[in-house]
This record gives sequence, structure tokens and C-alpha cells, in this order.
Amino acid sequence: MSKDRKKFKSALHVNPGIEQPQALNPNAINRFSHQKRIHSEAEYLNGILQGNRTILGKAITLIESTLPLHQQMAQRIIEKCLPYAGNSIRIGITGVPGVGKSTFIEALGMKLTQKGHKLAVLAIDPSSKKSKGSILADKTRMEELSATTNAFIRPSPSAGTLGGVARKTRETIILCEAAGYDVVFVETVGVGQSETTVHDMVDFFLLLMLAGAGDELQGIKRGIMEMADGIVINKAEAENLPKAMIAKSQLVNALHLFPPNVSGWEIKVETCSAYTGQGILNVWDLILDYIEHTKTNGYFQRRRTEQDKKVMINMIEDELLQRFNNSKKVKDMITTIEEGLSSQKFSAYIAAEQLIDAYLGDLGGK
Ligand code: GDP
Repeated sequence: MSKDRKKFKSALHVNPGIEQPQALNPNAINRFSHQKRIHSEAEYLNGILQGNRTILGKAITLIESTLPLHQQMAQRIIEKCLPYAGNSIRIGITGVPGVGKSTFIEALGMKLTQKGHKLAVLAIDPSSKKSKGSILADKTRMEELSATTNAFIRPSPSAGTLGGVARKTRETIILCEAAGYDVVFVETVGVGQSETTVHDMVDFFLLLMLAGAGDELQGIKRGIMEMADGIVINKAEAENLPKAMIAKSQLVNALHLFPPNVSGWEIKVETCSAYTGQGILNVWDLILDYIEHTKTNGYFQRRRTEQDKKVMINMIEDELLQRFNNSKKVKDMITTIEEGLSSQKFSAYIAAEQLIDAYLGDLGGK
């Protein structure tokens, strides 16, 4: 076969004059490079302050990243956002799975965004891992709300410890507030200490419950009811409504026996149907009443300051313990001390004292 003929027969032969398309789609390249582009700190800050949801999302990803470089950048962005933060109503919401938390947030959220509010929905779910085990993120949630421009929904960070997740969520609240979100929901389920954690970062703590046959107080830890500023009995519609009303009066009676709240606020009980929307705005009015009450008597600011102090002390404890554990002298001594403890040579008190002295000696030696 001649050379020309061979070329003509080849499946790879290209007819002259036909323009070939690019192997890669240039639009896709642009989109990809746009996504991967690393923003400067100023771009992050401006984007957040302008309420740009994409930039806000990326900044939260920095907060959630374990890379030291991202962490440092995130801290600088948070610091710059702080002067613009704090102007939201922070609402914690808890209740057993299936009680209707997502449906409730979506129903109230739609009404609030229609009134012109900007709503951020965050979650604390210590069971959340990227792949599985998540209680809050494993279903398609709040579809209507997520399509609303004035709503920003972010699933729980998937870090291991509750403390780690809590810190990231606190920092995320700051960024959301700087981006102009004036209502922030933090949702959780009763896993371990997660309710206390959420209670410690919000202004108003809402407990969602269901009406049962006289067993309203069962299955809910008493401590959680004491933490609540408002209790809402959901699914109060149709044939469920009379049961819900009975549950409400039983709860009101039971709550009279609780010690008075330090805020001077009596826990209020409402009924609603997140499904039909009935009573939803009464819950919002209840929240507004609480905010007004606590702003008037000064408790609102006091609670936020107390929360900040608690965070500071926790940070100091964590940091000091980490430094203690990393101390060379402590590391050198710990096995001997533990042996001394198990052979009852000295008490735990003396053991602790010796290790602390070793740590302080290490500091002095530096
Ligand atoms: P979550 O696990 O607490 O977030 O609960 P969901 O919001 O996912 O709701 C659990 C189920 O209860 C879903 O099938 C909802 O449609 C349903 N649900 C939520 N609120 C109501 C309500 O007010 N009335 C009725 N009948 N069903 C509801």
C-alpha cells in the first residue's frame, strides 16, 4: 500500500479543512479554575461583607480545613469580620429525630425571608462524618428554603470532637453575621452534650416536642427542658390538635415547678404545625418577646458575655493541657509517676503536683 493510501485508510486520518474541536471544553476549564482560585484575604472580607454566598461558603470551608495555612487565614478573616458581627438573633433548636426540626426551620424560615430577614441555618451534629453516620445531614433538607436567596444553609462541620465542631460553628456564626444574616438557627439532636453546646452559643433555645398520651415529660432529659427558653409542641394539626393542647397545659403546669430562670423569663409553651404553618408565627412572636425582655433587663448582653468567657476559659484549658502534655520533662516523668501511683507510693494529688512542678520547671528552663 502506498504511503498516501495508508494515510487515507487510517481511522486517525483527518480530512483537511475540517476544524477540530478542542480536546477540553474551555468553559469547563474556566469554571474549574474559577472554583479553585484562591482568594486573597481582602477578597474574602469584601465578599463576605457584600453578602456573597459563594465567598462566605468558601470562607467557612477555610474554617473547617485542618491545613494550618487555611486555619491561619480563617483566623485573620474572622478577626476582621468581628466588628461587623453580633447583630443577629441566634436561635438554638433541638428535639428528637423526626420531631420536625427541618420542617419547622423551613416553614418559619420561608416566612422570615418573605418579611425581609436573612436567615442562616447551621447544624451541630457530632455524629456527622463526610460519608455516613450523620443524623442531621443524611436527608434532603429544606429544599424550598435552600433555593431562597435570603437563606444560607450549611450542614454540620464533620470534625471529630464536639468541642472542635462547636468552635467551628461559633466562628461560622461570626462570618454569617458579618455577611448580614440577622437570624441564625443552630440545629442539633440530643447526642451526648450537643444540646448544652448549642445552648452555650445562642440567645434563645427552643425545644421541639411531640404530643403523646400523657407522657410529655418522658424521653426528654429534664435538664434540657430547664435549658429551654421556649417549648413548642409540633404536629399540632387535625386530630392531633386536642392532644397537643392537653400536652401544652400539662407542660405549663410542670414548668411551674421548675426553679425560676436567671433571665427572669418564664419558659413559654406553644403549639404549631410546621406542616400546615399553623402557629408558626406565634413561635416567632414568642422569640421576639424573649429578645425584648432580655434586652430590656440586660440579660441578653450578659448571656453573650458569659458565653464568650466560657469559650475563653475552655480555650485556655485546652491550650494549657496540650502544652503540659508536650512538655519534655512531663513526658520523661510520666511513666515513673504512673508506676508510683499503681504501687501506691503516693497519692494522685502528690502525683499531679509533681507533674505540674516538672512542667513549670520546663518553662523556667526555657
Ligand atoms: P427532624 O428529624 O426533627 O428534622 O424532622 P423532619 O423535619 O425531617 O420531620 C420528620 C417527619 O415529620 C417528616 O416526614 C415531616 O414531613 C413530618 N412533619 C414535620 N412537621 C410536621 C407537622 O407539623 N405535622 C405533620 N403531620 N408532620 C410533620
